[in-house]
Amino acid sequence: MAKVGFIGLGNMGGPMAANLVKGGHQVQVFDLAEAALLAAEEAGCTRAASATEAAQGADFVISMLPADKHVESVYLGDNGLINVLGENALAIDCSTISAATARNVGLALKAKNISFIDAPVSGGVGGAKAGTLTFICGGQEADVERARDVLQHMGKNIFRAGDVGAGQVAKICNNMLLSVLMVGTSEALQLGIAHGLDAKVLSEIMSKSSGSNWTLDVYNPCPNVMDNVPSSNGYQGGFLVDLMSKDLGLAQQAALASGAATPMGALTHNLYRSWSQLGHGREDFSSIFNYVKANTK
Ligand code: NAD
Repeated sequence: MAKVGFIGLGNMGGPMAANLVKGGHQVQVFDLAEAALLAAEEAGCTRAASATEAAQGADFVISMLPADKHVESVYLGDNGLINVLGENALAIDCSTISAATARNVGLALKAKNISFIDAPVSGGVGGAKAGTLTFICGGQEADVERARDVLQHMGKNIFRAGDVGAGQVAKICNNMLLSVLMVGTSEALQLGIAHGLDAKVLSEIMSKSSGSNWTLDVYNPCPNVMDNVPSSNGYQGGFLVDLMSKDLGLAQQAALASGAATPMGALTHNLYRSWSQLGHGREDFSSIFNYVKANTK
């Protein structure tokens, strides 16, 4: 059993911390929101009065925070974790943030002999609840191996993409590709529908042909082609347009920093931002199907 400090108990962090308790770990938690703390207490976690208190004496500290600025301030701010973590502690940031910020935090902690890995996740809220997340880690091999002790209770697949920051790069590469596939699938389906084809029949044909891909085969964006997907549930549940838009912004930032050409990624970033600005930010990202539809004569 390990002593774990867990910071950030939102849609993802709450169920992740609960799964660590189920895995037999002692989990001390902190969040700015009272409701999140109460839910974590009900799941068997112990409440702390601050992030630093949650991390006192911990073997592992796990953070699951909204964005770069939150991660920076929790680790490196005036009352940051950097001041309390022991040399034997391993810090694991599971938030989706820029690779540059992950590297900055990692370097600052390393200067104090504190180990750090970035470990963003794929699998969404459903995966967090079921304990089936995929962790995409960046860090030294020995640190990623050590992290398995706790990550295995929250996820099924644990990958090491490279050194600190590499987990964030691999995660945004995946989500950029996913968005391109989602927009392409939506366009193909809308083109067929505009010519009178049945979306179910067209989906089956493309699934068994060279256009087959995850967004078509298991997460179809056209309502009522499949059961149990957000498109057949008013685009509720799943992965928010706003979160996809955030990840695509991180991908564009990374592309600028490296000079990599990402024309399709830039296009899907614009499409998702516009869709969000039109009031669809809280819908599942497959609702981009309706953006394509709205632009069809
Ligand atoms: P969320 O907004 O539901 O939760 C974030 C939590 O962090 C909130 O409870 C907030 O109160 C807390 N918080 C903010 N600043 C804090 C601070 N200084 N100290 C303590 N707590 C603080 O977000 P989420 O959906 O849980 O996502 C968390 C991260 O996971 C994000 O980086 C997101 O991009 C990533 N992610 C989300 C999903 C998803 O489907 N929701 C999927 C994959 C990755």
